[in-house]
Amino acid sequence: MSRTRVIVMNAALGPLDYRVPHGMTVEPGSIVVVPLGPRQLLGVVWEPERLGTEEVGDNRLRNLLAVADVPPIPAPLRRLVEWTADYYLAPLSAVLRMALASTSALEGQKLIVEYRATGTVPPRLTPQREQALVRIGDRQGLIRELATIADVSDAVIRGLVKAGAIEGVEVDLDSPFPLPDPDHAPPLLSPEQRAAADTLAAATTAAAFEPFLLDGVTGSGKTEVYLEAVAAALRADRQSLILLPEIALTEPFLKRFTGRFGVEPVAWHSGLRSSQRRRAWRAIATGEAKVVVGARSALFLPYARLGVIVVDEAHETSFKQEDGVHYHARDVAVMRGRFEGCPVILASATPAIETRHQVELGRYREVKLPDRYGAAQLPRIEAIDLLAEPPVRGRWLAPRLVTAIDATLARGEQVLLFLNRRGYAPLTLCRTCGHRFQCPNCTAWMVEHRLINRLSCHHCGHAYPTPRACPECSDEDSLVACGPGVERIADEVAALYPDAKTAIVTSDTIWSPAKAAEFVGRMEAGDIDIVVGTQLVTKGYHFPNLTLVGVIDADLGLEGGDLRAAERTFQQISQVAGRAGRGTKPGTVLVQTHAPGARVIEALVSGDAESFYAAETDARREADAPPFGRFAAIVVSSEDKALADQTARTVARSVPQVDGMHVFGPAPAPLAMLRGRHRFRLLVHATRSLDVQDVIRDWLGALDWGPKVRVAVDVDPYNF
Ligand code: ADP
Ligand code: ZN
Repeated sequence: MSRTRVIVMNAALGPLDYRVPHGMTVEPGSIVVVPLGPRQLLGVVWEPERLGTEEVGDNRLRNLLAVADVPPIPAPLRRLVEWTADYYLAPLSAVLRMALASTSALEGQKLIVEYRATGTVPPRLTPQREQALVRIGDRQGLIRELATIADVSDAVIRGLVKAGAIEGVEVDLDSPFPLPDPDHAPPLLSPEQRAAADTLAAATTAAAFEPFLLDGVTGSGKTEVYLEAVAAALRADRQSLILLPEIALTEPFLKRFTGRFGVEPVAWHSGLRSSQRRRAWRAIATGEAKVVVGARSALFLPYARLGVIVVDEAHETSFKQEDGVHYHARDVAVMRGRFEGCPVILASATPAIETRHQVELGRYREVKLPDRYGAAQLPRIEAIDLLAEPPVRGRWLAPRLVTAIDATLARGEQVLLFLNRRGYAPLTLCRTCGHRFQCPNCTAWMVEHRLINRLSCHHCGHAYPTPRACPECSDEDSLVACGPGVERIADEVAALYPDAKTAIVTSDTIWSPAKAAEFVGRMEAGDIDIVVGTQLVTKGYHFPNLTLVGVIDADLGLEGGDLRAAERTFQQISQVAGRAGRGTKPGTVLVQTHAPGARVIEALVSGDAESFYAAETDARREADAPPFGRFAAIVVSSEDKALADQTARTVARSVPQVDGMHVFGPAPAPLAMLRGRHRFRLLVHATRSLDVQDVIRDWLGALDWGPKVRVAVDVDPYNF
């Protein structure tokens, strides 16, 4: 009799054994449907010897129900799934779920029907129908997807189909993606770029694991360079994966990619429709999708023959996943390269201290691009001491910044004002009684969004219309906005420069690739004079006529003693500064701060990144903080505060005595309440040589808590 071991898609269950019925063949990696009680679940066949030996008698085995008509999960990805589960203390099935990405990718169907507007107005045009047609526009999708886009019920969409206003179209999920041509338009590289590109291309051709740090200043042409490694992979008929931190970035990126290779790459991100997802997943698994550009979730897809992995803007903290499996895509990318046997290129102008440390240890090879491409020079950075040169009362732009904006606009050039805060004001309070608007679900203030006239929590999404009276004392006209967000800066700009064309760029305004494309188009056409934006504008974009960058509040990220606060501030301001003067005109960056003497501000002004990094690294070494020592956070949460508190204490009482490990807390987590759950945190500090995951696994494995408590472990945590 043939039996097999399966990881089933249920985090509460370990691997289970099944019988392989006659006529069915499976191998490790096969995606199967299994019975579990009365239900059917997806699972993946695994090598039994890698999962322990929990033998079940043959007579109690149930039959596998079906095998999916897709290639099995390849061995290198199976090893990556195991490594990720082990390192980040996550269930195998939770990691595997990311590889399967969407179960619908596995359905045998090759043709599906999607729907789109015909342009015909239905005879009976109810307000709901009108809303649906307006919102759907020229988009296409399943009935369910269109209903979501239009914010109406499925029945409304079906009614529109009956009325002839929406029609079905067949979509072939096996239709091929166009092939990128490595010789379409090779770039003319500078000698430094050529040398870097040759190194990376040779490593790709060699098809062996090797991690690289592509360390090039902003505007040095890192993209041009790593695309040559992609070209090498294409010539060797291997796949490439390019990870990018934000969806909004894909648009300018896609353009450049198309310029280089003649066609668009395959995109992978959360905004895909289910049909796009299925088509991409299958093409990736068969190897037909040659180049995939995606968000971090693209890392776990079942590439058939991976030839190179690029992590662009590798220092970005958005590569760290903060819920579900708490993994860091940069680090997992390196492990994937190891299992696949291919080079991994981490590209950044401001590499993380962790990454620089790997270079120092000789584990990653550094490839440098020290100069901007062509005639472009790095911008001049100056600090504005807000104590010495304060803005006019009630304003946020210091006089020197205003003067610089005047001059820039007079020359017909563009300005970027950077403030990493969405909305109008981060806090609203009542002048009469002192009431502050707080989120009922989170330890956070409600942020005013004046453009849509709502208060909103940036953590859980709770929102309501901005009230006119104070809910506490009923006083009218007593509410005051405290502090600035980008909308408030845009207001100030509008008051100072009524004739200037201003755009606000945040995730509220640029929420799709199409919106990003529209923004890029307007910038390039000179249709925008002043951009006010959050970190969304700090990277990737290339606007040659943008010559002045103003940083409204450089101190914002330095608050709260986060381990990486100074490093992050350095990275963020370097990146936003990197938007200035990328063409032939020189750029200027003015950084408003209350702490011009802070090490990070001095480093930015002097341009001496090396001594800044050296000092930061020393401080980390001193404190035995990462990359020297290691941290793990254990977060105990529950809707019941007392229960969470009590469980956290129980966890703390059973801390094992292990050399090289110390546990701090429990204490309320930095966000003491989040989405209605109270959170307590224990912080584990350990030396590198200790297998701290193993210790934590044993420690927590011996404890029990009810279903009302959640205990999450975050290995190598970020926000603390
Ligand atoms: P980085 O990612 O290092 O900040 P980019 O790759 O965005 O830099 O390059 C900056 C600009 O210079 C882009 O517009 C890019 O197209 C251009 N560029 C870089 N190298 C070349 C080259 N060899 N030939 C033509 N244009 C280049
Ligand atoms: Zn909230």
